[in-house]
Formats: sequence, C-alpha cells, structure tokens
Amino acid sequence: MSKILDGKKLNTEISLDLERKIKKLKVKPRLAIIQIGSVAESTVYIKRKIAFGEKIGAKVEHIKLPSKTKKSELSSIISKLNSDKSVHGIIVQLPLPKHINPNEILNSIDEKKRVDGGKYFLPATTLGILTLLERYKINISGKKVVVIGRSELVGKPTALAMINRGATVTVCHSQTKDLKKETKQADILVVAVGKARLITKNHVSRNQVVIDVGINATADGKLVGDVDFKNVSKIVRVITPVPGGVGPMTVASLFENLLEAYYLQL
Ligand code: NAP
Repeated sequence: MSKILDGKKLNTEISLDLERKIKKLKVKPRLAIIQIGSVAESTVYIKRKIAFGEKIGAKVEHIKLPSKTKKSELSSIISKLNSDKSVHGIIVQLPLPKHINPNEILNSIDEKKRVDGGKYFLPATTLGILTLLERYKINISGKKVVVIGRSELVGKPTALAMINRGATVTVCHSQTKDLKKETKQADILVVAVGKARLITKNHVSRNQVVIDVGINATADGKLVGDVDFKNVSKIVRVITPVPGGVGPMTVASLFENLLEAYYLQL
C-alpha cells in the first residue's frame, strides 16, 4: 500500500498558521468571489472557501450573478473591486457561461489582487500541489514529471512550475498517442483531466508519486479522482486521495495567496 499524502491534515495546519497571522492584523484580508450562474460544483467549492476564510478570520464576500450577466456588467464589477482598497483578492469562479471569455475577464483583475494565478501568484491548485510535495519532502529537481491535462488553470501552470523547479516535464492531453508509455516513465505523475478512474494500474509503475487533481461525481453521489485509487495505491510509492488530497490544499493555498496579496498592497 502506498504512502498517502494527507491534504486535509495539511489544510488544518495551514489554517492554524494563517489564523495566527491574521489575528495580529487590524484590518482583515478580504477576498471577493464572483460566481456567474449556479453550476452546482462551483457552489460547493465556494462554500468550502467561505468556510475556510471564516475559520482563519479573513473576510469573504460572495458576489452571485445570474448566468445571463453581460460581459460589460461583469467588467464593471471587477473594475470597482480593483479600485476598492478594502478588497485584497478577487477570484472569478470558473467555468463561466459560454458568452464570456474567461481569459479576458481574468486578465482584467488587478494583478496584485489576482490570487488564483497571474503575475504575482501561482494558481491555488498548483501552489497546493507544490506545498504538498514540499511538506512531505518529495524533491522535484531532477525528477521526470508527467502532467496529464493542459488547461490554463491547472495543467499548464503546474507543468511550468515543475520546470521552474528543475524537473524534466512531459505534458499529455487528449491527443497523446500512447498515454501508458508516458505515464509509466514518470517519477511524479500529476493527473488533471476530469475523467473518473482514467489512470489504472496499467498506467503506473513502482516507486512513483501520483498526484490526483481530478474531482468527479459518480452516479451514486460519491467523489472520485482521475486515478483508480484502490488498485493504483497497491503499486505506487506515494499517492494523494480524493477527497482529502489536492482539493483541501487548493483552498488553503488560495488563502495563503490572499495573505500575500494583503502584504503586497500595504
Ligand atoms: P479541463 O480544462 O477540462 O482540462 C482537461 C484536460 O484533460 C485537457 O487538457 C484535455 O486535453 C485532457 N484530457 C481529456 N481527456 C483526456 C484523455 N483521455 N487522456 C489524456 N488527457 C485528456 O479541466 P481542468 O480545469 O484542468 O480540471 C481537471 C480536473 O481537475 C477536473 O476534474 C476538475 O474538477 C479538477 N480540479 C480540481 C481542483 C482541486 O482543487 N482538486 C482544482 C481545479 C480543477 P485537451 O486539451 O486535448 O482537450
């Protein structure tokens, strides 16, 4: 059985650290979360962020807009938040309705307040993965990392962060010809696809570290990752569970970024 990287436990450790730091601040860090429409998963993720924010003493404002909101209306809300000094971080919960281009909207957020990526901050999921590896003393430098998924929010920034930390990185996606051949060669395999149990025991080899970013709801209402945990965990050396792995790390990392954003704006 593999060693399990416990994101839930680390989330608690990070929350205590952030709570201690925020207690000392007169003005509390404030995060604005914009949600357009009512995608059920987004609502769940936002609830978790609000709960974490409350736990550590940050302020979280949930701005809910109808799915027919025009791009111009959204832009004007962002521009008000950009110039509001009491707001330190802004996130726009993805996915957005089809008529709004996410890149255009994300790029309109003041870089110092853009706590889920951009010029100053790593996207929360990427930071969560790096922190998880670091806390468990898993080195990245010199390792062969295979990232499956090339999204702007997860796959690409994670691959780039791994390159920047000295890994040799291969990025796989839906056009990759022989996925098994690529995945088997990894020292660290990061899976960010969104397909339940895509990665089976036939994709992995001994001694690997497997980071499962995927969150998929099964027909019976359970949450599972992109990795067939039951069988893969019998083979690889280290693995993250779903739930309880990358998910809680993403939430904690978002608030680490928020506190950094707060200091940046002092
Ligand atoms: P996305 O934008 O849909 O990207 C999925 C990626 O997977 C694409 O690059 C796609 O390739 C690739 N792909 C699809 N089918 C494939 C296949 N059969 N073999 C290899 N690659 C394949 O998704 P995302 O936003 O990156 O999210 C990925 C997953 O992570 C989702 O389950 C999401 O819910 C989850 N997630 C979790 C967290 C967390 O905190 N744990 C945070 C964010 C996202 P193409 O580019 O060729 O289409």
